[in-house]
Amino acid sequence: MNALSDRLKGLIAAQGPLSVAQFMALALMDPEHGYYARRDPFGETGDFITAPEISQMFGELLGLWLVQVWRDQGAPAPLTLIELGPGRGTMMADVLRAAAMVAPDFLAAADVVLVEASPTLRGLQQQRLASAPARISWRPSLDIEEVSGPLFVLANEFFDALPIRQFLRLGEHWHERVLALTPEGELGFAVAPMPAQALVPMPGRMPPSEGDLFEICPLGLALCEHLASAIARQGGAALIIDYGYGTTAGYADTLQALKAHAYVPVLETPGEADLTAHVDFGALAAAARHGGAAVYGPCAQGAFLDALGLRQRCAALTRAAPDAAHVLSRQLNRLCAEDQMGQLFKALALLPQHAPRPDGF
Ligand code: SAH
Repeated sequence: MNALSDRLKGLIAAQGPLSVAQFMALALMDPEHGYYARRDPFGETGDFITAPEISQMFGELLGLWLVQVWRDQGAPAPLTLIELGPGRGTMMADVLRAAAMVAPDFLAAADVVLVEASPTLRGLQQQRLASAPARISWRPSLDIEEVSGPLFVLANEFFDALPIRQFLRLGEHWHERVLALTPEGELGFAVAPMPAQALVPMPGRMPPSEGDLFEICPLGLALCEHLASAIARQGGAALIIDYGYGTTAGYADTLQALKAHAYVPVLETPGEADLTAHVDFGALAAAARHGGAAVYGPCAQGAFLDALGLRQRCAALTRAAPDAAHVLSRQLNRLCAEDQMGQLFKALALLPQHAPRPDGF
C-alpha cells in the first residue's frame, strides 16, 4: 500500500466506488502520485521498454513512411506533425532525422506538436529534441479544432495507456466493474449492482456468456473518430501502433500492471506500476470509419516493418558498423519476431478517402 492507495480509499469513502477508468486515470496521471506524472519509466532499468527505445530503426522507418504518405497527397505545406505520448522523445528524434535526410521540404513545412500530459516526460523530450531540425511545441492534450490544414499523427503505445471501463456479464445485462472498499477497508474490485444502460459491444463480436468481461476505451474511441474526421476533411494521416486485439476482441480482463519488467497485481502499488490494457483495434477502426477516414489494417507490427524495409535498413546499418551486427539483429528480432513484438503489436493507418494505399498495408 502507498500514498495513492490511501487517497483512493479516502475518495471512495467520501463519494462511493470509482470506475476502472477513473482509477486508471488517477494511477497514471494524478499530478502528485501518478505513474507518468512523476517518473521516467522506460528502458532496461525502468519498468518496460518500447519499440523506439529498442531500436532507432523503428522511428526511422516511420519517418520515411510519413514522408511517403505526405508526397502521395501532393506534399501539402504547411502541415502539422503530431505525436501523441512521445515518452522520452526518442521516436520523434529518429523520425525527424530520417525525414531530414530524404525530405528537408517536409520538415520545413512542418509544425511539430508533441502531446504529453506528464511534466517529467515533457522535460525529457525537450532535452532530447533540443537540437532537432524542426519547430516543436508541446501541449498537455490535443485540441483537434485548433489544427488547421493537413495533420500527420503518430501514436506508439499511447492508446494502451488511455483509461478503459470494464463491464461484467451477469444474466442478461452488463454491470460496470468498479473499485470499492472491502469489509476490511482495503481496495478491491466490485460490481455495480445496477446494470449499465444501453451498452452494446461492437457488432461482429461473439454473443457474450455469463461472467464475460467487456472493455471499452471511450477516450480512445472519441479521439480516433476526431482524428479521422479531421484527416478526412483536411488531409494527412494517422499511424497508430500498439499492442492489442486485431479485428475481433475477446471478452477478457486485460488490465495489467508492469513494474521492473514483471507483472504485479493491479491494486498492489497504484501509481508505482505502469497500467495498460489491450487496444481494441477493431473498435478503433470502426470509430475511424465513422469519422470518415479510409482505414488500413490492423496489420501485425512484424509484417508492417518488414514491408517498410526493416531488413534492408538493418543490413545497411550492419555494413556501416559490422561490430554492431549482433546488437542490430537482436533489435530486429525483438521488433519483428512472432514471439516478441511482431504479432501482438499492430499498426492501423487512417487516411483521407482519396489518398493512395499507404506503404506497409
Ligand atoms: N510513445 C512512447 C511512450 C509510450 S508510454 C514510446 O513508444 O516509447 C505512453 C506515453 O503517453 C507517455 O509519454 C505518457 O506520459 C503519455 N500519456 C499517457 N496518457 C496520456 C494522456 N491522457 N494525455 C497525454 N499523454 C499521455
